[in-house]
Amino acid sequence: MSTMQEMINEAESSLLHTYNRYQVVFDHADGVTLYDTDGKAYLDFVSGIGVFALGYGNKEYNDALKAQIDKILHTSNYYYNEPAIQAAKLVTKYSGMDRVFFTNSGAEAVEGALKAARKYAYLKDGSTDHEIIALNHSFHGRTFGALSVTGKAQYREPFKPMIGNIKFAEINDLESVKAQITDKTCAIIMETVQGEGGIFPATEEFIKGVRALCDEKDILLIIDEIQCGMGRTGYYFAFQKFGIKPDILTVAKALGCGVPVGAFLMTEKVGQNSLKAGDHGTTYGGNPFVCAAICEVFRQFEEKKIPEHAGEVGAYLYEKLEEIKEAYPMITDHRGRGLMQGLVFDREVAPVINAALEKGLVLINAGANIIRFLPPLVIEKKDVDDMLVILKDALNSLQ
Ligand SMILES: *Cc1c(COP(=O)(O)O)cnc(C)c1O
Repeated sequence: MSTMQEMINEAESSLLHTYNRYQVVFDHADGVTLYDTDGKAYLDFVSGIGVFALGYGNKEYNDALKAQIDKILHTSNYYYNEPAIQAAKLVTKYSGMDRVFFTNSGAEAVEGALKAARKYAYLKDGSTDHEIIALNHSFHGRTFGALSVTGKAQYREPFKPMIGNIKFAEINDLESVKAQITDKTCAIIMETVQGEGGIFPATEEFIKGVRALCDEKDILLIIDEIQCGMGRTGYYFAFQKFGIKPDILTVAKALGCGVPVGAFLMTEKVGQNSLKAGDHGTTYGGNPFVCAAICEVFRQFEEKKIPEHAGEVGAYLYEKLEEIKEAYPMITDHRGRGLMQGLVFDREVAPVINAALEKGLVLINAGANIIRFLPPLVIEKKDVDDMLVILKDALNSLQ
């Protein structure tokens, strides 16, 4: 039996070092509690970056996946499979979109969305120099297309050239978006609540303004809800709060609650006028295994009213984090919606996160000076209270 430190050393001798990992090896989990290989318990306020919405050790979810393993795992997209048919019905129903393509990850969902937008514009005017507008502080993934529309220059710089004709504007500044629009603009891509980039929610005025601009000029609005969607803000999808709809929507993270699956969805109009047979594909995407997970996720979301619950507990978390912000001068701002919130510090947050981890609370950053709260959506107010005790303890230890 290796100790945790031995396992970490072994990991660092063979894994590519693309992450500065926290010094812990997680072994198993139950509900909203993670356990390391020494059996130490940690309250989880990260949920694997917004993935494990239903909590760990969810028996019905596990049983649904086990049953599918015993039936069939994979067929390829040249054939139909029942879980994918059901999953497509569910994700279009709850998002209000018409057509879906399943992917293996968020980044691939964004790639597909960008391709659909370019093809739509290509079919309209036959030209191949269309432009896409993205926002500063955005995050859309690490593959070339997704990275090209990610609004953080240092992520892009070493990998240039990016895909061409991408322009950047500011979130919540409609004039900055207008200033980037030309006759060549085919799409605007944005998150309803920016995640990795620092928890910046789009205002109602801004998102409605962008929608109106897009309608006026037949530009496609791509909304990336890979992090803020799937119930996290109190709605199945965060844009639903504003009564608007994107032309293309990307989803992943909590869509499968632990199995790697994403999706891009579109309206019928975009579906009929963009990607055709031969234009796009994936070997694994939407296989019976991951689609069985999606079906069970939506079943439990409906049965347990997960989005509503996230909204309620999210409001409680908001109230409590406001109190924390008032009590600690090192905290300068507090932003977010539902169970997706951030505390902004006047300093780097790594020491706070490490102190919390030591005391049995898992937190994550969003940029160097923001702590991000992204708990499983099944947490209760009592878990928020327990989190606050440890967080205060960690903050006090650093004062
Ligand atoms: C995580 C994330 C992605 C990328 O998803 P991966 O599954 O890591 O490729 C894209 N967009 C947003 C908003 C995300 O939070």
